[in-house]
Amino acid sequence: PAGRRPLMAGNWKMNLNHLEAIALVQKLAFSLTEKQLTDVEVVVLPPFVDLRSVQTLIDGDKLLLGYGAQDLSPHASGAYTGDVSGGMLAKLGCQYVVVGHSERRMYHHEDDTLVAAKVKAALANSMSPILCVGEGLEIREAGNHVAHTVAQLDAALKGLKPDQVEKVVVAYEPIWAIGTGKTATPEDAQEVIGALRSRLADRYGDVAGRVRILYGGSVKANNVASIMAQPDVDGALVGGASIDADEFVRICRFKE
Ligand code: PEP
Repeated sequence: PAGRRPLMAGNWKMNLNHLEAIALVQKLAFSLTEKQLTDVEVVVLPPFVDLRSVQTLIDGDKLLLGYGAQDLSPHASGAYTGDVSGGMLAKLGCQYVVVGHSERRMYHHEDDTLVAAKVKAALANSMSPILCVGEGLEIREAGNHVAHTVAQLDAALKGLKPDQVEKVVVAYEPIWAIGTGKTATPEDAQEVIGALRSRLADRYGDVAGRVRILYGGSVKANNVASIMAQPDVDGALVGGASIDADEFVRICRFKE
């Protein structure tokens, strides 16, 4: 909407074996036409261990698919056993990296300060962070979902200049809708995403009109079109439905 190119990003989470990962990229590449991949940006976010092969396939065959990682370290290098730096991901050709996914906030205790450091680390390596924000069920039931989500956005972007904010992709993912089959209504998504865009406009001016804001939470082929019809929704971060090639292809063809 409003001149922003729609973005459909598939967060594979910790799924698929290596051969299945390669097969999924191949299926996406031959199922989507050049026109479809020009109109809509399609991005896959595999586990770290698949990135080299995904890079070889996508770059080697000049496929019109983008790819990125699901997390990165806030540090550039050093004694951080098990972590992967932004520089390593950039070297593998990643254009995107998910930051602050609710599963990492929950299972790895990532707080807003760490999320902000990861956003900076992504930008420092010329990757676009896909910054996830969103409220849990209790916060929604108390009616505080907009304030909570806007505060997460403020904290994650702290200290950034407008030209850096422009490179960020925001994903509004209400936690109660992730992997539960409960999708937010299109109006619920618009309410929060509209508020996030207004906040960006207040703080960073014109760039707010160019930042893409996605919805995430049980997006499927049969509900994507109504969500995409909302004026401030620019795409979807898709979990479960993104590892099923046919389903994800249908999501990417939401216009048809
Ligand atoms: C996600 O994890 O980003 C997500 C939206 O998952 P699902 O589509 O499975 O709800």
